[in-house]
Amino acid sequence: MAQDLLKANKDLAQQNRELFQAQGVKVVNLISSPGSGKTSLLETTLALLWGHCRMGVIEGDISTTRDAERIAGQGVPVVQINTGGLCHLDARMVERAAQELPLGDLDVVLIENVGNLVCPASFDLGEACKVVLLSVTEGSDKPAKYPKVFQQAQAVVISKVDLLPYTDFDLAGCLEELKQINPRLHVFTTSAKTQAGFSPWLAWLQNTEVP
Ligand code: MG
Ligand code: ZN
Repeated sequence: MAQDLLKANKDLAQQNRELFQAQGVKVVNLISSPGSGKTSLLETTLALLWGHCRMGVIEGDISTTRDAERIAGQGVPVVQINTGGLCHLDARMVERAAQELPLGDLDVVLIENVGNLVCPASFDLGEACKVVLLSVTEGSDKPAKYPKVFQQAQAVVISKVDLLPYTDFDLAGCLEELKQINPRLHVFTTSAKTQAGFSPWLAWLQNTEVP
């Protein structure tokens, strides 16, 4: 049963991927625990890329439209998905949401997944790449505890680095662990508050090739 579900999801994700490629839009699946700062990362990213890159957003949450309202304030097309209790997005939800976006007019679509480091790793949405966000307030042991999502990701954004002096987050140790888990990862250390570290992240987001 679970295997059938994952197979059906994979087939639909592949259809999504072909649609996104045909429309020339790069779709990024943004994954993290709750409270890591995904929406803040999106807000700063959208503000700094305004006029350089045509962006759209799909907001996934268990309930509420608060994050979509925050993003809509930035003047980019945004679609909210409420999963009604489900702790991850799946390819069917993204297929429906994408129909509400002007895909052909966009360069990049950022999908904010539901806050969860476990099952989003198992559900392909048809994205070009997965990006995992890890905040310094949640502890540097997350990659070792949840390796699967870090193995599948193309990039990791370490967020809230302005708070580093107030935490015991081991940045050097975390970078070393990430390298062991996935040597191909691009790692960015950022603060949405101060905009520290955003230049390399924005350059990667705009220039990385869709596989
Ligand atoms: Mg959010
Ligand atoms: Zn789930």
